[in-house]
Amino acid sequence: MKAVVIGSMNMDYTMVVDHLPARGETVTAVRLRTSAGGKGLNQAVALARLGVEVVMVGAVGDDASGKALLGNLPKDHIPDFAIKKVDDSTGNAFITVDSQGHNTIVVYPGANYKLDMGWVESFKGEIASADFVVMQMEIPLDTVVSSIELAHSLGTTVVLNPAPALPLPPEIYPMIDLIVPNETELTLLTGQNDVLEGARKLLEMGAKAVVVTLGSSGCLYEDTSQEILVEGFKVNAVDSTAAGDAFIGGLLSALGRREDIRTAMTFANAVGAITVTRPGAQESIPTYEEVKDFLRRRGA
Ligand code: ADP
Repeated sequence: MKAVVIGSMNMDYTMVVDHLPARGETVTAVRLRTSAGGKGLNQAVALARLGVEVVMVGAVGDDASGKALLGNLPKDHIPDFAIKKVDDSTGNAFITVDSQGHNTIVVYPGANYKLDMGWVESFKGEIASADFVVMQMEIPLDTVVSSIELAHSLGTTVVLNPAPALPLPPEIYPMIDLIVPNETELTLLTGQNDVLEGARKLLEMGAKAVVVTLGSSGCLYEDTSQEILVEGFKVNAVDSTAAGDAFIGGLLSALGRREDIRTAMTFANAVGAITVTRPGAQESIPTYEEVKDFLRRRGA
């Protein structure tokens, strides 16, 4: 099973503070954590840890952050041949998080905004031979839209995590095989506050299937013939960073193993639940064995 991820790669700098700084205030952080992130790379790492062969199509700058991101890839068996080296800074996210878990985040997209369609097209062969192409929206919208058109024309299953949510051209929805928003993104795309109404609206707009992630409540699947809600696992959540990205890796890895949708949703909920019990982003994403072990212990 192979997935091509077309998306963002960031270096995250997380400063742990007692309280978030007010305007003009300087706060001394008690800890600085540096970790690889970006929704694209997080989803690539999740897929790889869960047993999927991954090609990451992305961009980094010729700087220390870029080198560090590339240096981390072999650990997760992700190749770097489809990662463009561009003349800008690598994407950076500056995160402050207080003792209650509230945060502020400033992102400099840098190289991610230089991920152009010419570069994506040079991996047409990889896209054609993949089971899934997975995209998020931390790269230029043009590239997302054209990549969806390309993957669709090649007959590869198109999966979109519309995060952060931006209005998409209406003609693109019928080319999306599976769209996976969280509740906020669903509302932004559909104007609906009700999850069921929102999911149905995405189908009306043309998406073939929808999975809405519902935080601790689990997830909802909707296509034109069925509607399935799978409750989340009760866990002691400490940090929800990357839960949605890990969930997508879980869902697609299970669907790629030809598991039925309900089993795949349970597997994805387990991946998301494990991720929220661990601090940090990528480092909290579990391996296939860890998820199987969790499911066994939960009798699921
Ligand atoms: P995002 O992080 O993108 O906002 P969600 O918060 O909906 O996405 O979380 C994604 C998935 O992670 C959920 O569908 C669920 O499976 C799992 N998850 C998230 N938060 C919790 C939690 N507190 N307890 C158990 N599972 C969780």
